[in-house]
Amino acid sequence: MPEPLDALSAVIQQVDGPAAADVDRDATFPDASIAALGDAGILGLVSSREVGGGGAGLDAAATVVEQLAHACGSTAMIVLMHYAATAMIEAHGSDELRRSIASGEHLTTLAFSEAGSRSHFWAPQGTAAREPSDGAVVLDAAKSWVTAAEHASTYVWSSTPVEQSGPMTLWAVPSRTEGLAVGPAFEGFGLRGNESVPVTAVGARVPRDAMLGADGAGLDLALQIVLPWFLILSGAFSLGLMEAVAAETRGHLLATRLDHLDQSLAQQPLTRVDFARLRIDVDRTRAFLSDTLGALSSARPDAMLRVLEVKAVAAEAAVTTTDLAMKLCGGAAFRKEVGIERRFRDARAARVMAPTTDALLDFVGRSVFDQPLLGDA
Ligand SMILES: Cc1cc2nc3c(=O)[nH]c(=O)nc-3n(C[C@H](O)[C@H](O)[C@H](O)COP(=O)(O)OP(=O)(O)OC[C@H]3O[C@@H](n4cnc5c(N)ncnc54)[C@H](O)[C@@H]3O)c2cc1C
Repeated sequence: MPEPLDALSAVIQQVDGPAAADVDRDATFPDASIAALGDAGILGLVSSREVGGGGAGLDAAATVVEQLAHACGSTAMIVLMHYAATAMIEAHGSDELRRSIASGEHLTTLAFSEAGSRSHFWAPQGTAAREPSDGAVVLDAAKSWVTAAEHASTYVWSSTPVEQSGPMTLWAVPSRTEGLAVGPAFEGFGLRGNESVPVTAVGARVPRDAMLGADGAGLDLALQIVLPWFLILSGAFSLGLMEAVAAETRGHLLATRLDHLDQSLAQQPLTRVDFARLRIDVDRTRAFLSDTLGALSSARPDAMLRVLEVKAVAAEAAVTTTDLAMKLCGGAAFRKEVGIERRFRDARAARVMAPTTDALLDFVGRSVFDQPLLGDA
């Protein structure tokens, strides 16, 4: 049996890469890729060995997300959400649920954003109320964006607390729970295979032990556990898109000729300078991501600052890089033939995914001034 990261290359070459253009064109969920990733041990990669998973950490997860983003942004974002939710379930979920995720047959995701509080995920409006008759909990909410909403088996779900004070409580909610409604279908500008759709809960009953961590402690847990995974993997996602667009642009510039000059586009001085800018942006982003991972693994004092910075750095670099690639490849990029316009669209998601670039810049500013991340400074 090949190691999961070796098997990943095979899945990308044989399944995920070839399907990417169709997933984008038809806005279809990449079923075959997700099934193959489950079989290859990639969906169970970050689950601990004691429950049958791969026992890998953020470094390996970042490699997976980057390589997937190189091939298909939608698949990469689905796996990113799966890993971020898995980190929370690994820390506070039941052994049964952890084993199910480790097996590779169980996709999970985050259900944080809501129609009312929008990108302010730290302020859920959805409620959780105790049913006096049997102690079950009843969830009501309007979740606005849940990636893989139809295909995930579990949602890591935020609500206001049941009894305690505090901004948030987290739950592992089975997606087939009665009272949940999914849709309408996702018609996105980019990441079109993501299936990031609203999920509404009206009187959805879950057992009390679906709670992840303590009642009212959800925001602390989201910031301590989910946020580092989400931010770092978002950086890896943007980096994968940038590497893909750099390779596609380079190939186009080398192969495309100006016949009257008997030269390639790559031989034009201004084109070389623009491409150098693009390459430096990609390399700078890789260095930043690598430094962030290093800071975390060595518990450097600035590790949390790097974590807060990395998604914004990478997302904005991906926006700039894909825009420059569109210019460099001209009308050819404007058509779908070079593949660059898909990266251009996909790259714009990370900027507006919560915490958005704006929110992260505020967090970074608060952090350097020793102010709390949220609330009055
Ligand atoms: C492809 C995709 C997949 C997603 N998947 C998931 C998922 O699986 N789970 C999940 O929970 N969510 C998911 N989301 C939702 C995402 O995390 C954000 O919540 C959502 O994109 C925010 O969009 P909005 O229109 O509600 O933003 P808004 O909150 O309306 O923000 C719009 C803009 O205003 C800025 N802004 C907001 N508040 C302020 C302020 N106070 N001051 C100044 N500027 C402000 C924001 O930074 C942003 O640029 C996904 C989003 C996308 C695009």
